[in-house]
Amino acid sequence: MMGREMSVLSQEILADLARHARHARHADESPVWPGASWAALQKLGGLRWSIPQTYGGEGLSGVDLLERYEALAGECLTTCFLLSQRDAACRRLIDSGKDSLCSEILPQLVIGKRFATVGLAQLTTSHQHTEPPVTARQDGDVFIIDGVIPWVTGAARADHIVMGAVTDAGKQILGVMGANLPGVIVEEPLQLMAMDGSLTGPVRCKGVRLPRSQILAGPADHVLASKRGGTGGLETSCLAIGLTGAAVRHLLQEAKDRPQLADDATRLEMAHRTLRQEMLDLSAAPVPPDAAQSLRARANTLVLRATQAALAVSKGAGFVRDHPAQRWARQALFFLVWSCPWQVTAATMARLSIEDSVCS
Ligand SMILES: Cc1cc2nc3c(=O)[nH]c(=O)nc-3n(C[C@H](O)[C@H](O)[C@H](O)COP(=O)(O)OP(=O)(O)OC[C@H]3O[C@@H](n4cnc5c(N)ncnc54)[C@H](O)[C@@H]3O)c2cc1C
Repeated sequence: MMGREMSVLSQEILADLARHARHARHADESPVWPGASWAALQKLGGLRWSIPQTYGGEGLSGVDLLERYEALAGECLTTCFLLSQRDAACRRLIDSGKDSLCSEILPQLVIGKRFATVGLAQLTTSHQHTEPPVTARQDGDVFIIDGVIPWVTGAARADHIVMGAVTDAGKQILGVMGANLPGVIVEEPLQLMAMDGSLTGPVRCKGVRLPRSQILAGPADHVLASKRGGTGGLETSCLAIGLTGAAVRHLLQEAKDRPQLADDATRLEMAHRTLRQEMLDLSAAPVPPDAAQSLRARANTLVLRATQAALAVSKGAGFVRDHPAQRWARQALFFLVWSCPWQVTAATMARLSIEDSVCS
């Protein structure tokens, strides 16, 4: 559906989302659960957006959901990232078709009583050059899980972790693991260069007994293959495009008083607008992996350029911790490492290493 006009979020939702900016510095810098941001998100209905109506949510998808993620990412990337990981867990639960698990977990997530997250990178983009960091050994109707899930966002707060492991036979399984199961040890959150409030860290599994009833997919060769996208899908680009939007709006604002900035600000605005429209067009149908990966690589470089431009025009003042430009520039670097399959990293590298005027 090329050229589709995006639906515009109501002024009310935008105003509610804008309130997140107030907490964005705290959520980025403090290694504690960003409670005020999460409560604000719950108040504006964000915990319901992606969850189907059957389970008490709004069942939003496509443009409607992407627009909300985008707007939230522009106000507080940390909160949006936490939500995106929770929603990724929800998608895996829903795609499993296991209604009993969905009925038990999703309504609790809607009302904010529980939090769910994902620890899946070890099946896709992390530790691919080593032995599987998380293994599953079948014992009757139970899988015994051992190893370290290297990356789990919001781990310290999670009640449920949708996680992946590899069996003795080299097959993958996807399961939903209660964080309170014996043998689950949530390690201290890692010290990050941005978004410390995401409380991202490893989760150690020592002989965790995961019943078959908690298995969402597998054993199979590729349990994460999904028609809705996944690693490197539109959601990751959407967050980068949302952050780009914050930087572009700042540039345009500065250009009002500094006309010498106008051409560059307008060029970045055009690039942002084009990429954003491409994302919304792509969301209308199942997204071909090539198209999603190409969008992601371009979103990665645009978010770096736009946030660095915002920092450049903010000058020394922008380098000080209370200025959002330094936060945007740090957060933009996250997209270089988050959920990047090799094709995305390769395309990003090609764009970063391109010969330009530096060499001539
Ligand atoms: C803040 C943050 C939050 C995240 N949250 C989540 C989450 O909630 N859920 C989730 O599933 N994932 C999450 N991730 C994981 C993310 O999506 C990527 O999987 C992760 O960033 C990949 O980095 P890695 O260091 O684990 O990669 P690895 O590939 O394991 O690389 C680690 C190191 O190994 C070396 N290396 C890499 N490849 C090779 C090779 N081929 N040969 C030799 N040496 C090599 C390099 O020195 C590299 O520095 C998160 C990541 C970050 C940074």
